[in-house]
Amino acid sequence: MTEITVKTHARTDFVDITSEVADAIRKSGVTEGFCTVYVPHTTAGVTINENADPSVRQDIANALDELIPWNGRYSHSEGNSAAHVKATLTGFSVAIPIRNGHPALGTWQGVYFCEYDGPRTRKCVIGVTRCE
Ligand code: ZN
Repeated sequence: MTEITVKTHARTDFVDITSEVADAIRKSGVTEGFCTVYVPHTTAGVTINENADPSVRQDIANALDELIPWNGRYSHSEGNSAAHVKATLTGFSVAIPIRNGHPALGTWQGVYFCEYDGPRTRKCVIGVTRCE
């Protein structure tokens, strides 16, 4: 298991961690299996989406902001309920197949750490499981 540190730079920030995931797979020596990426936070998550055009990430951030405004009818006293809701929508883990020792992502896919209450220094756990 690998734990990586992710530095985020804005309240909402999608950080490309695809190369860190590929590194963890390579270091594990597993050639066929699954890689699980897990985010142990309540106001950050992880998702897979387009890595070619960065405007897609901005569009996702903007759409989430429209759906879940920072100032809303929330009860949580910490004042960051929007971040909790966004994290739940994107989720806290993804599973990626491994083929020939590489993450078998689609041509246009990348793995993104999703910050919703940054900037912060975060943790992300990457586990690799061999499948025969
Ligand atoms: Zn909170």
